[in-house]
Amino acid sequence: MLLTITTTYQPATDLGYLLHKNPARLQSVEITGGLAHVFYPEATAQRCTAALLLDLDPVGLVRDRHGDFALAEYVNDRPYVASSFLSVALSKAFGTAMNGTCKDRPALPAQALPLAVTVAVVSAPGPDWPRRLFEPLGYQVETTAYPLDATVPAWGASPYYTLHLRHDGLRLQDLLAHLYVLLPVLDNDKHYYVDQQEADKLLHRGGDWLPRHPERDFITRRYLRYLGSIVNQTLERLLEGVEESSSSVDSASPQVGATANDRAETANSQAPEPDGATRGLAESTLLPKLTLHDQRLQQVAHEIYQLAPKRVLDLGCGEGRLLRLLLRQPKIEFIRGLDVSHQALSRAAQRLRLDEMAPRQRARIELVQGSLLYRDARLAGFDAAALVEVIEHLDENRLASLEAVVFGHARPAHVFVTTPNAEYNQLFALPAGEFRHADHRFEWTRAEFAAWATGVAARHGYQVRLVGMGEAAEGVGAPSQLAVFGLLVD
Ligand code: SAH
Repeated sequence: MLLTITTTYQPATDLGYLLHKNPARLQSVEITGGLAHVFYPEATAQRCTAALLLDLDPVGLVRDRHGDFALAEYVNDRPYVASSFLSVALSKAFGTAMNGTCKDRPALPAQALPLAVTVAVVSAPGPDWPRRLFEPLGYQVETTAYPLDATVPAWGASPYYTLHLRHDGLRLQDLLAHLYVLLPVLDNDKHYYVDQQEADKLLHRGGDWLPRHPERDFITRRYLRYLGSIVNQTLERLLEGVEESSSSVDSASPQVGATANDRAETANSQAPEPDGATRGLAESTLLPKLTLHDQRLQQVAHEIYQLAPKRVLDLGCGEGRLLRLLLRQPKIEFIRGLDVSHQALSRAAQRLRLDEMAPRQRARIELVQGSLLYRDARLAGFDAAALVEVIEHLDENRLASLEAVVFGHARPAHVFVTTPNAEYNQLFALPAGEFRHADHRFEWTRAEFAAWATGVAARHGYQVRLVGMGEAAEGVGAPSQLAVFGLLVD
């Protein structure tokens, strides 16, 4: 797959500054399934062309998946067609340009340039589609069609076209945003799982031009395949003119680099966070902007606030996302985060800026290393304990130890346990029996979670209430599930 961008703006070699890629050098970046190479077939003051060559390994793309594979999984058009892999490559190779930044020529990103683009090849539902998508944005569009097999004319046309776009005056940043959104829309096979983050990317890259595009609904639907509810929500947001302000959405997102073996949930749990220190509560409660994991954390934090606890435990606190929300609640006097991973704890300390905290605030929080599978006096004496997306990281046969430690020994007045709802996985397009995250040991249906939770409650003198987390879908329930335990007598 080859994409070239040519300009005759003078001096044309300024394209190198804009793209943040030196015309004299071949530069390569790694993306899922292969490499993206950037080089300049021509670079003179009159005319400069940058090329992005995507070198995907079709075997590598399926290698880490389990099970039997049809030949079609190895022999396919992915290496040759402009697809979501190209969007990932664009944001990785040209992220700075996409964000409109140019350190060496600060005025250049705002400059409208004559630009010509060739993409070899795109796959499109019909020959008119490239025109319908790009002409409303001011491009002159030409396509070169190819027969399915030149030696068998009776087979007719293939769905593949070389696409030629020309624009008399456009900011490079806009060109890249158009390509980023529209090339995967032309292609019908997205390689990563679509979730809320995708909607954010669409709003971020398309917010300026998509609301006025005549094919807005088609583009949004094709971009956000699979998740009907998100499509409607996103269309609404587009029409409201909501703009995504975070510029790090693509470049830092593990999701865009997700392999077939990575999961929607992985992307969620590692999603880049806007600068938490400056981000206020009001902004962070804008639900449409939140990833599934953020929603989950907010819901748990909210449930915890309702009980007005003074001392809260976060068990398996990871990088401290829930801790941050809890710290914002001044009525909570003391919070202890426990995790088995030293690395996660030091990330948490960094993210929470423990070093820079005022002494009184610093005294409210403590991070400790330890395992939930062993009795620990540091877990006793709390009003509430959270285990957000933790139990599924333990082998199922260790759950009895966890139960004894948390419900038998530590005995907080309330316990909040969340875990994925396995029934929802089909909406992430996960093959049956596969988990959302490589480190998950199990994922439960609603009935399985309810059986475990009611058993635990009965054995230890708690009552339990089960709650769906995130927007429920018909027949499968919500993406995640929460059990709220309350101690009956002690
Ligand atoms: N609660 C966090 C992190 C969830 S990931 C959040 O919602 O963002 C699961 C976490 O559980 C990881 O940080 C992992 O290190 C931790 N963990 C796994 N086994 C554990 C154990 N036996 N004891 C304590 N923490 C454990």
